Amino acid sequence: MKMEIPNMLRREFLSNCVRKLPALAAMASVTASWKSVWAGGNDNYDPSEHDYAMAIDIHKCIGCGRCVEACKKENNVPMDDTHFRTWVERYVISEEGETLVDSPHGGMNGFPELKEDVKVLRTFFVPKLCNHCENPPCVQVCPVGATFVSPDGVVLVDEDYCVGCRYCIQACPYGARFLHPVKKVAEKCTFCYHRITKGMLPACVEVCPTQARIFGDKKKTSSPLRRFLRFMDITVLKPWMNTKPKVYYGGADGEVT
Ligand code: SF4
Ligand code: SF4
Repeated sequence: MKMEIPNMLRREFLSNCVRKLPALAAMASVTASWKSVWAGGNDNYDPSEHDYAMAIDIHKCIGCGRCVEACKKENNVPMDDTHFRTWVERYVISEEGETLVDSPHGGMNGFPELKEDVKVLRTFFVPKLCNHCENPPCVQVCPVGATFVSPDGVVLVDEDYCVGCRYCIQACPYGARFLHPVKKVAEKCTFCYHRITKGMLPACVEVCPTQARIFGDKKKTSSPLRRFLRFMDITVLKPWMNTKPKVYYGGADGEVT
């Protein structure tokens, strides 16, 4: 698939390439790696021992947005309305069979009351984030190998290599990436890589008051994640895209994409 860089972005892209020249030159012998993203973590950490994933229990999410706020604070995501590593959507199914989706401020401040004229059949909340796809189009299109799948199954971006071309942002079918407005590199959820490599939970999982988010290791047979996957009716987003997402939804139905 051939993609064009819009004219207005070309100058910014070229200036980013120049800025990254030392790192790009080094790519002849070294490539982006999980260790350079994880810098300063646990020296005993072996990524080949893990296969991380997340599950979302739709029945439990109350749309409080605490996960969205915690993610922004933990990962220095701008506290504005346009940049999110994770966000929460409200699905409203009307009696007429219409599906309405909203996500004011990414759901960070909760959700307003619904207008009285909407005849509601049911509502539910759907937290979204990077799906850490096993077959990720964002990785396939990156021209400099800055984004990659780590041996522990986490899709990462090495900021030292990223030239801010936005190809990955266009390629992601889930809208999970954005260009950091200051750093000018592609950003997205990392499952809080700096935390999980030290045995901690991602920030969004830790603060969730209802345990709607379940994080774990698919290689650990006794993990709550494995139990959840075994006993719930699981779906993934846009399964027809063949991206093989590793964020699994329990209790979601056909309306959720
Ligand atoms: Fe890449 Fe998007 Fe899949 Fe995340 S959800 S791995 S950004 S394609
Ligand atoms: Fe849902 Fe938990 Fe996030 Fe609240 S913190 S919006 S309950 S996932």
